[in-house]
Amino acid sequence: MNCWDIHTHQAGRNHSITQAQIPAKDEDGTYSIGIHPWRVDLGWEEECIGIEEYAQRNEQVLAIGEVGFDRLKGSDILLQKNAFFAQANLAARLEIPLILHCVKSHDLLLAYLKSATYPPNIIWHGWNQKPELAKQLLPFPIFFSFGKHLLHPESNAAKHLEVCPIDRVFFETDDSELKIESIYQAASLILQLPVTRLAEQVIVNWNAISKRKIS
Ligand SMILES: [Zn+2]
Repeated sequence: MNCWDIHTHQAGRNHSITQAQIPAKDEDGTYSIGIHPWRVDLGWEEECIGIEEYAQRNEQVLAIGEVGFDRLKGSDILLQKNAFFAQANLAARLEIPLILHCVKSHDLLLAYLKSATYPPNIIWHGWNQKPELAKQLLPFPIFFSFGKHLLHPESNAAKHLEVCPIDRVFFETDDSELKIESIYQAASLILQLPVTRLAEQVIVNWNAISKRKIS
């Protein structure tokens, strides 16, 4: 059973969605591509066209991301919003998920979700937010990817995992050096479910929300 890592910055790992720039260097891998909110600039529209062409030609692009909003470290917020809307539309058109980076900006995400007619399936990566926010998000096609915070049993992430609908759950290593197995292991202890069961569930979850399947 493969323990999929839904978001990592480490290249060359199996069963992983590696964050990449185009053209992706890892020819055998699967990856996500997108314009991160830290580096949206005035050329974003052109870059977005390049991303669309590349993603259409390359079935190895499993997700658009990480994209989103960041009020602490990002570019001008209007640019971030416009780039996000365009990339959300792109993910929806390709019928693949969007991997979300969202820092101090959940109001922007909620406003988008309330107004969007066809939002893509959105995976909030590195989830460690307050339980109230998780509740507000559940009516929308939002999924939660849990990473290193699960290693702390008192974290918001660990508490949310306990109550989160199991079909909304993913796991990731992000920019850490951790092995994905250690995240599955932590989740297994929290949920009292075997790692194999969680690995299976993640594959089912992914395939339910994406046209580009994993196994
Ligand atoms: Zn990341």
